[in-house]
Amino acid sequence: SRVVVAVDGTSGSGKSSTCRGVAARLGLRYLDTGAQFRAMTWWMLREGVDIHDAEAVAACAGKPAIESGTDPNGPTIEVDGVDVSVAIRSDEVTRSVSPVSTVPEVRTRLLELQREIIADGGIVVEGRDIGSVVWPQAEVKLYLTADVEARARRRAAEEGGTDVSATHQVLLDRDRIDSGRATAPLVMADGAVHIDTTPYSLEEVIEQVVGLVRV
Ligand code: C5P
Repeated sequence: SRVVVAVDGTSGSGKSSTCRGVAARLGLRYLDTGAQFRAMTWWMLREGVDIHDAEAVAACAGKPAIESGTDPNGPTIEVDGVDVSVAIRSDEVTRSVSPVSTVPEVRTRLLELQREIIADGGIVVEGRDIGSVVWPQAEVKLYLTADVEARARRRAAEEGGTDVSATHQVLLDRDRIDSGRATAPLVMADGAVHIDTTPYSLEEVIEQVVGLVRV
């Protein structure tokens, strides 16, 4: 199948688990574009780049070699040949990724990588601007949201007992920056189906999405 499923939405709305589940069920590949922005951010922090200095970030956006593996049962992400799948989930990266993602040069660089991977189709792609900017011609577009309380609870549970109210604040900060930036802000793409995941289990959301995809 050459179908492309574009999934955008707020932080912690259940995008990743949903997308992996849908891709596994339908035998499609899976691309986590958030992991690419995190990988870029991880590299900037390691290199000592001031992530609030947009010019400094822009100047080195082309340097790291970022490689995404697209198996939904074991997605991988490497920077310059180093597996960073665990490192990119640190608090420091999570707090720093939205400011880095506002820099146009970062977005242009990752957009190229993303389009190269998506080109052959047969893939579920998650992010913030997939249906609006990266692949507007996607056959299926979804916009996932959830109440912030539900999101903070899920995320804190995922992260193994981190503080719910701190998680809550980080999610809101990321949503605010992601929605307010000038380049490719988080918006509901034309033709997207909105699913508020708050009342549903993961299995129920996967079921709904699978029902929308004609493989
Ligand atoms: O999906 P995840 O929470 O891992 O994404 C991390 C961050 O990467 C988001 O908060 C956003 O700032 C950025 N991002 C983006 N565009 C995408 C995917 C992620 O700006 N397509």
